[in-house]
Amino acid sequence: MKTVFATSRPGRAGVWPPAPQTEPAALIEPRLLREKRPCLPELSELDVVRHFTGLSRLNFSVDGNFYPLGSCTMKYNPKFTEAVAAHPGFTALHPLIPQLRGAGHFTQGALEVLYETERFLCAITGMHAFTLQPLAGAHGELTGVMLMAAYHRDKGNRKTTILVPDSAHGTNPASAAIAGYQVVSIPSHEGIIDPAAMEKVLNEDVAGLMMTCPNTLGLFERHLPRIVELVHSVDGLLYYDGANLNAIMGKMRVGDAGFDIVHINLHKTFATPHGGGGPGAGPVGVSARLEPYLPISRVVKLEDGQYYLNYDYPKSIGYIAPFYGNFGVILKAYAYLLRLGREGVVRVAENAVLAANYLRARLRGHLEIPYDRTCMHEFVASVAELAASHGVRALDIAKALLDRGHYAPTIYFPLIVKECLMIEPTETESKETLDGFVDDLVDIVKTARINPAAIQAAPHHLPVARLDEVRAARAMELTDDAGLSEVMEITAESDTHA
Ligand SMILES: *Cc1c(COP(=O)(O)O)cnc(C)c1O
Repeated sequence: MKTVFATSRPGRAGVWPPAPQTEPAALIEPRLLREKRPCLPELSELDVVRHFTGLSRLNFSVDGNFYPLGSCTMKYNPKFTEAVAAHPGFTALHPLIPQLRGAGHFTQGALEVLYETERFLCAITGMHAFTLQPLAGAHGELTGVMLMAAYHRDKGNRKTTILVPDSAHGTNPASAAIAGYQVVSIPSHEGIIDPAAMEKVLNEDVAGLMMTCPNTLGLFERHLPRIVELVHSVDGLLYYDGANLNAIMGKMRVGDAGFDIVHINLHKTFATPHGGGGPGAGPVGVSARLEPYLPISRVVKLEDGQYYLNYDYPKSIGYIAPFYGNFGVILKAYAYLLRLGREGVVRVAENAVLAANYLRARLRGHLEIPYDRTCMHEFVASVAELAASHGVRALDIAKALLDRGHYAPTIYFPLIVKECLMIEPTETESKETLDGFVDDLVDIVKTARINPAAIQAAPHHLPVARLDEVRAARAMELTDDAGLSEVMEITAESDTHA
């Protein structure tokens, strides 16, 4: 596709604003004036619409394709939440509008959304209190580890390490390290945490355990009571990475299991669109003893039913986000929860787990499933044998799936399974979609045995095939130099004429 610079023509425009009554130069300080005209493409409205519609068609999206990207919960996000979030009562609300009395009625609705969302999340997780401030899952983790540190500092505990199982999400050890802790890895046994292995590394230096559950193999941690008991025995805190809460919500409550801190990803489980680094929200829930350290501000409800933001928490870890977090994301999650209701929350979990187990059962015999037992919202398959016998690797299978209109599963993660594909179908897909994916995947594996080169050269039908990913990230070319220099010449020319 041509860039906007290549399609640009001098003088072409979509909108003609009225001529200014005063020369702009007379209104702007001379030192702030540009010396040269900015090099912008000139296009009609239709050119712009065609350009961006064209770009969007080059991409995979949940609205267009099945998207079984493990540990990412790329599920369908119902469109009614967009309508709610676009309501002018919310979008026109400036975060600096004064609270309470007088102007307060403008902010009460938004504060109620925050307050009620916290209450819903407390009910779903069994935690004592929540902060909605963190702007992503990893940001929630960092907040959680900071809460852990604040607790130990306050108690005068000297703690230096955080335990992280080898089946944890990659952000867990990263968050612990960024917060200044040493990370001690616990090897899993048969895919889950082995309390005996944990006991070996447990001592008074341990600030806590960060655990992803279900873990990155899609397995539920079966020894939770013993794990909780062990970590608490050294006054360590238990951190639950609940980014993928769609596997357990309505079925098991993290707080009831004895956990001290949990983060959840609204942009995964609670139906707010994400991807490409887009907006997220990683609320953090805590047990009662950690509440004093929560970030500010916090929404409180007064006796007269009014809401306001309280900043007066002397033990708080302070600010971790501007204003009140990603309000639009929280609002969509709130609307989604209201629509789901108590029964809907349970059904989401049941369907997410059913879909993953259906795929696992149907793929058995075609792909290796190293931990072939009941999984949660996702499972991990492996093509190690195919790679050894025919030289067709997980990457090749992923590329071949793109050719057939499916987004690829997560590949090469978790690190503990060779040549793996981590498949998460989510609860929103129909049986027909799941069957279509299985048929295509099985066909790819069969083709790989007969004609490996065809799969190794995939994709054959996409706008770009195999990119040098390192170069694409490190040596980004964000402009089309050929198109750009042409526009610059034309612009310079029209400047001289003017
Ligand atoms: C996605 C995910 C994270 C990180 O969330 P971000 O919003 O991408 O920062 C952490 N843990 C698990 C288990 C996840 O799936």
